[in-house]
Amino acid sequence: MTVITRFAPSPTGYLHVGGARTALFSWLYAKKTKGEFVLRIEDTDRERSSEASVQAILDGMSWLGLDHDRGPIFQTDRFDRYEQVIQQLLDEGKAYRCYHSQQELDDMREQQKAKGDNPRYDGSCRNLSAYPEDKPHVIRFKNPLDASVVIDDLIRGHIEISNTELDDLIIARTDGTPTYNFTVVVDDLDMGITHVIRGDDHINNTPKQINILHALNAPIPKYAHVPMILGDDGKRLSKRHGAVGVMQYRDDGYLPQALLNYLVRLGWSNGDREIFSMDEMIDLFSLEAINKTPSAFNTKKLNWLNQHYMKTLPASEVAVHLNWHLVEQGINATNNAKKSAVIEALIPLYAERTETLKQLASQIRFMFEDFKEFDVKAAKKHLKITAGEALSTLKVSFESLVDWNEASIQNAIDETMTKLDIGMGKIGMPLRVAITGSGQSPGMDILCALLGKEATLARLDKALSFIEQRKLQAEQR
Ligand code: GLU
Repeated sequence: MTVITRFAPSPTGYLHVGGARTALFSWLYAKKTKGEFVLRIEDTDRERSSEASVQAILDGMSWLGLDHDRGPIFQTDRFDRYEQVIQQLLDEGKAYRCYHSQQELDDMREQQKAKGDNPRYDGSCRNLSAYPEDKPHVIRFKNPLDASVVIDDLIRGHIEISNTELDDLIIARTDGTPTYNFTVVVDDLDMGITHVIRGDDHINNTPKQINILHALNAPIPKYAHVPMILGDDGKRLSKRHGAVGVMQYRDDGYLPQALLNYLVRLGWSNGDREIFSMDEMIDLFSLEAINKTPSAFNTKKLNWLNQHYMKTLPASEVAVHLNWHLVEQGINATNNAKKSAVIEALIPLYAERTETLKQLASQIRFMFEDFKEFDVKAAKKHLKITAGEALSTLKVSFESLVDWNEASIQNAIDETMTKLDIGMGKIGMPLRVAITGSGQSPGMDILCALLGKEATLARLDKALSFIEQRKLQAEQR
């Protein structure tokens, strides 16, 4: 048997963290079993669905690298098929037209409540012999009246629901459009879905769907209902917690590898291991190891993982994602071999001190454009009048260098320190502020080497005139 899983989002918003995790679990299970992963867009609710949401889902899936083997299949393209199955159920006496008006249904409910019964449709249209074709009606599924539905959920275990608790579900509305639980069933059947992996907010739908599948003589897929994700306050994760679309994580500077690793651990575990490459996830994943209890979102851990991947993935791979942020920040380094080499050299240096690509990009901008102003605090502290001599002496030494590399640069710095009898702090920090504009950075030897001689000298000039300016102001006071 080939395993066929699906991810079936409703395009009523962006692909959020919970959806992405469900998609990942379904995708992993298909990969692990060498099965198939289907992407199905459940867009029958035309009021709430939008083209933009479809795009956001597709973008999110593709950014995460969760490719599908089939799809995207749109439910709105399948109305003829739904109609056909509804007709089949009617013909076989497994569904019926129901003519109760909304008012009548409301009254029925009120009477049941007054008697202390559970409000439900009483099935009184089940056996009508005359069908007034022109009267508005819905179509209901004849739910079995006795016995119970059994779900052996791969995560939650054995669940049994008595059919007396279920009423006759509407499968087509008055306007003839099929309803949600019905389209899911027809799709899962037609697409040969063997494993339904979805959020446990759907668990109440499952018995209804199983009953319809039975009526269609369809095989019953296995079900795995994934517990929800909580925010750090223990409440269901929502926008209030800053839970946003997957693409927002890209915008905020996360690597897809980090988000995937984060998501897989959100409700699934393998011993106490935290780091999983995609191949390792595929290899080790199992539905049975998904937790039964909700898991809580933890931004600190996501940041930790992101930094881990920034530090450990090949720089060329990180660069692909970093370039996107650089372009966002006005620096286009793509298709430029020299700049690309500089970026790849900067990644390991800066990954040590940043948690997101967005931070990293903003910290290396100085390398590709002249910064407008020195960081005020850093300049005040380190571009003092007394630093002028150190920087101008260093500049002369730099100018004389024939080979411009880390070693020769460090040598020039050391010589200047000896010559002026000053410590590293008195020259390193002014140099840092002069070159990067800020008071924090990796080693200056490598940064100057990457920046190049000409640009380094120009920035020293800029710092020296800043100091000169300061001197004039001090004299005027
Ligand atoms: N369309 C449903 C949702 O977005 C999922 C249905 C399913 O997985 O069966 O919540």
